[in-house]
Amino acid sequence: MLSEDRLLAAKQRMLDQHLRARGITDERVLAAMERVPREEFVPAPLRGHAYDDRALPVECGQTISQPYTVAFMAQAARLQGHERVLEIGTGSGYGAAVLSQLASEVCTIERWPDLYDSATQRLERLGFRNVVTKLGDGSLGWPEESPFEAIIVTAAAEQLPHALRDQLAEGGRLIIPIGELGEGQTMFRFTRRNDQLVEERLGLFSFVPLVCPP
Ligand code: SAH
Repeated sequence: MLSEDRLLAAKQRMLDQHLRARGITDERVLAAMERVPREEFVPAPLRGHAYDDRALPVECGQTISQPYTVAFMAQAARLQGHERVLEIGTGSGYGAAVLSQLASEVCTIERWPDLYDSATQRLERLGFRNVVTKLGDGSLGWPEESPFEAIIVTAAAEQLPHALRDQLAEGGRLIIPIGELGEGQTMFRFTRRNDQLVEERLGLFSFVPLVCPP
């Protein structure tokens, strides 16, 4: 049995050494990372590793993203609290839970039924009430709920899915890793300005693939 104290100490190390020390400066993001219990989102045998700065395996051969990556994408989205956010790739639900602390509503889409079911139940059990989940192909976005002030894609795309760009609000930010699999991907921030997308490259990361049906 892990003591609460050990988890708390590990969480503090995550905040100081893996997030603050590596450039996560947005205090709202740091507070969200402190508030959301990552140990509830990882498989039970891995609870002791919940605050290690690495991705961990979840069902269906997928992963829960590394804390730094979750914080980095949340910071890159420049959320102030009033936004509606679309997340592609619910996975464990952890990223959606973090985003829910930073925005007014999070819509999140997962393609695997098992992950969708367990993340939906977990988010409900833990009381994250401003998260709405959907089962489906996230590369098509969620037109009925659009436009979104921020869209965060937590799986690697080979190119920018068109539907997502169309569902971004004016001034909205789309954060997405793009690149070939296995080689690491470049994190992009696209900001919609006057119907154009302004592109910025934010660094190299490594993600599981965004699966787009043919
Ligand atoms: N945000 C998640 C990380 C998930 S990893 C977390 O915090 O745990 C990426 C997820 O994207 C996986 O669960 C994978 O199944 C999902 N995914 C991949 N392609 C997808 C698609 N086209 N539509 C929706 N989800 C997709």
